[in-house]
Amino acid sequence: MSKEGIYVSEAVIRRLPKYYRYLDDLEKVGIERVSSKELSRRMGLTASQIRQDFNCFGGFGQQGYGYNVSELKKELIKILGLDKRYNLIVIGAGNMGQALANYVAFEKEGFYIRALFDINPKLIGMTIRDIKIYDLDYLEEYIKMNPTDIAVITTPRQEAQAIADRLVTSGIKGIWNFAAVDIEVPQDVVVENAHISDSLFTLSFKTREDIKLI
Ligand code: ATP
Repeated sequence: MSKEGIYVSEAVIRRLPKYYRYLDDLEKVGIERVSSKELSRRMGLTASQIRQDFNCFGGFGQQGYGYNVSELKKELIKILGLDKRYNLIVIGAGNMGQALANYVAFEKEGFYIRALFDINPKLIGMTIRDIKIYDLDYLEEYIKMNPTDIAVITTPRQEAQAIADRLVTSGIKGIWNFAAVDIEVPQDVVVENAHISDSLFTLSFKTREDIKLI
């Protein structure tokens, strides 16, 4: 990868976690090598699409010989940044915030929730799996004292923009937004939306009998 950086389309980025997941599954069942044809069949993409995607990162595997599953998985770990550890904080320790804090699987991939924040006095001081819920007033000071890579917003939607503004001012560069609202941030801050109700509404739309998917 060059020092100038690599240009990758949003569509390719969206497929990268899926490649990682499929390769992880193949590795778990002991498959060492996979042809681009087989990988494409499993993933529902064309073999040339897969080759083009991998070419963004220099290309892996050999024509006609397929991909070495664990080598390719290692490459994807590097590409996705899963070879690092990330410190996360969660703002809003309600049902969603607590569910995320309880979800241990993120830690296996290097994502550690270190603290939760809320305004509800009943929640402040409680712990979820040893992760403390702090008063939101302590947010800026906490970030100053504890290097934080990613902040997760799980507050009601009407609170999300104000929280995002405070996070940005505190120097947070990555926001995982579960609040059902599109937040605005400066260009050097990345927001990834996890609008799960959008996903549910998409499902409900697709289940309409008069809808034909093209
Ligand atoms: P619950 O049923 O416990 O209220 P919930 O997830 O359904 O959980 P929401 O109304 O979505 O409730 O709020 C999520 C959490 O965000 C709650 O714990 C709430 O106290 C908290 N919260 C609300 N406003 C803020 C804010 N400005 N900053 C931080 N947390 C907030």
